[in-house]
Formats: sequence, structure tokens, C-alpha cells
Amino acid sequence: MQTATHQAQQLIQLEEKYGAHNYDPLNVVIERAEGVWLYDVDGNRYLDCISAYSAVNQGHAHPRIVAALEEQAEKVSLVSRAVRNARLGGYLEKLTRLCGYDMALPTNTGVEAVETAIKLARRWAYDVKGIAEDAAEIIVFENNFHGRTIAAISASSEPKYRRGFGPLTPGFSLARYGDIAALQSAITPNTAAILIEPIQGEGGVLVPPDGYLSGARELCSRNNVLFIADEIQTGLGRTGDLFACDYEDVKPDILIIGKALGGGIYPVSATLASRDLMLLFRPGEHGSTFGGNPLACAVGEAAIDVIVEEQLPQRSRESGAFLRDQLRKLPNIKEVRGRGLLIGLELDGSARTVAEALLAKSIVAKDTHRHVLRIAPPLIIEQPQLESLVTALKEVL
Ligand SMILES: *Cc1c(COP(=O)(O)O)cnc(C)c1O
Repeated sequence: MQTATHQAQQLIQLEEKYGAHNYDPLNVVIERAEGVWLYDVDGNRYLDCISAYSAVNQGHAHPRIVAALEEQAEKVSLVSRAVRNARLGGYLEKLTRLCGYDMALPTNTGVEAVETAIKLARRWAYDVKGIAEDAAEIIVFENNFHGRTIAAISASSEPKYRRGFGPLTPGFSLARYGDIAALQSAITPNTAAILIEPIQGEGGVLVPPDGYLSGARELCSRNNVLFIADEIQTGLGRTGDLFACDYEDVKPDILIIGKALGGGIYPVSATLASRDLMLLFRPGEHGSTFGGNPLACAVGEAAIDVIVEEQLPQRSRESGAFLRDQLRKLPNIKEVRGRGLLIGLELDGSARTVAEALLAKSIVAKDTHRHVLRIAPPLIIEQPQLESLVTALKEVL
């Protein structure tokens, strides 16, 4: 690691002194960013291979998204949903058309959209499917990540996320990921929905076997169970398609998106569903003060426009194929996983050590689980930068 200068050290100390220690970040202090580049307080430049966990698919400070933010901020940023705002209708039309759903419910962070989907599925279970009150179950999968609220950690299989936070929320049952027989036997008459990531990002970039997602979709349809896809990390171009479920032509009943929907500039998330499903929420039964605010709508629209017009899914597919191909030639890698530019390197040794060695070579990448390094640069990354990443990895490994 580059030795942090006096200024960087001071900033790190301030953060450690006054901030909760709920993260263990790499010790680089970023001051500005543009495109695929991060700049620290000493002016050093790094290639960003984290993209804020896929929130920055469009690249940092995309001029079009920044302009939308600035223009809207000067007009009106927040009125709450107590009144209507002039940006909401147009944004929702664009969003639902892009995703292929009748309706969307706008929220801010990813986990809020997850909570929305859980509530919607439960409501459907009682009002439509006829499951007895409070008996609805949602099947979730080992190694999942759906966020940090009590409900999301109740769905988790990771002891570190759950320990000491009980009592946890009932109503989740765990099934093995990627195993269609396990899913089949997990379904009961009380199953309302499955909640699934089409590729498990935090779990270590775990790609299910071919045919698994379509098989799960088929099982859900046959058993009158909703298929909820958490595409917060995999969606909006990251995996080489607009959505990772597209790879198997799977259409979820409920789609959850976030992260890149705000272009890395503002938190924007959404839950999408059919009209029949979404209208199960009546006024006052769910909401969010900032959800669907004019600033979020303006940013969301621009973020979508950039994804579509700059053909980010296609670029992700091409760059990802090249990168995985190159990475497979490197030494000391057990496995190269992923799709598009969501790539996981299963290493022999500590991924954190490799991440720190990469930082010294001006590449910012992060471990997820002990032996997995996640590589997920902004989708606008170009060939020379991909090559320099491969070179740096070759030296480090
Ligand atoms: C990041 C993420 C979330 C949580 O999103 P937040 O914006 O951090 O609340 C949920 N699910 C998946 C798959 C994610 O990657």
C-alpha cells in the first residue's frame, strides 16, 4: 500500500474517532472521481474496480447525470408524496417501459426496495393466494445478500450479519442456491415467494448452473409462488444483459433494482410488478418520505438514458468476456466466475492481501469473503484500462 501522507492519516483518524466502525475500508482517502478513475487526497489516481458495488455502472460523475441533478436541484428537490411532483409520472413511465412492468414503487436505498417486495409478496399471499394470517413463508438462498435491515438479515445465512441482532423476523426459509431439487422440496403450501439474486454478488459472485433460474421460474409458476428477483447489484447492465434474469429469459413477478439506478450520484431504488400485484398496496399502507422525489426522478431518468444510449449492457458483455478470458490465463487463481463485468476471482490465498497489493499498483478492488476478489469496474471501461488491470493482477499474483 502507498504510505498514506500526513493529510490522509489525519482524515483516517478523524473517521475512526467519530465514525462507527461498521466497515473495514482500504486505507485510501478519495477526494474526487471521474469516469473509471478515483483520485485520493494526495492526487494519486486509481482504477476503480469496485464501482461502489455496481452503483457506478455509468462511471463517476457522468456529465449527463450530474447536469440532471444540478438542473433539478435548482427547481425543486423534495415535496414528499403528500403532493404530486412534476417529475414522477415521466420517470415511472420510462422506468417501467425499460424494465417491462406495469408499475413501480419508488424508494431510495436497495434494502427499502427489498422490504417493499417482501411486504408486497406477503400481502399477495394473504389477500390473493389465501394463506392463513401470519403463516406466509418466503424462500431465500444460502449465501444471499439482501441488505442490512432486520428483515434482510433475518433472511441471511451469514452468522456475522445476524449475531446479536435478534429477535429476528420469522417467515424465511433457506434453500441451497443453484439446486433445483432443494428448491422444489422447500416449497410448501404456505410459500408466498422466492427471493433470489440471479447471481450472488456479495456471496462471492456465485453463478447458478445453466437452467437453474428458468427451472426456478417454472417451479414458481406451477406452485403459485411469486418469483422475486433482487437485481440491485446484477441489474442495469452489470452482467452483460439489462438484467441477469434475461440470460435465461426469466421474467420475475417482482423485480427489485437500486444501485446504478441512481448512477452513483443519488440513492434511487424501485420495486416493479404487474398492476394486479402493485394495487394490493392501498394508500397509506407503505411509503417513504424521499421515495420518488423530483431529484431522484431526474437522476433516475438520466441514469437510465445513459445505460440505454451508451449501450452499457453490450459493453459489459464484451469487456467482461475479454477480461475473464485474460484472467483465466493468470497463475494462482482457482476459478474465474461471473458474467459481464461482475467477476469473482477465487484465489488460493487471502483476497484482502491481493486487494492491498493491487492498491499499491493503483487499482481499487475489494475482497468479498476470504478467498474471493470481486472485479466490477464501471461498464464504460475501455480496452487499455482492461489491459492494465490484467497486467497489475499478473504482477500481484
Ligand atoms: C447492495 C445490495 C442490497 C442493499 O442495497 P443498499 O442500497 O445497500 O440498501 C440488496 N441486495 C443486493 C443484491 C445488493 O447487492
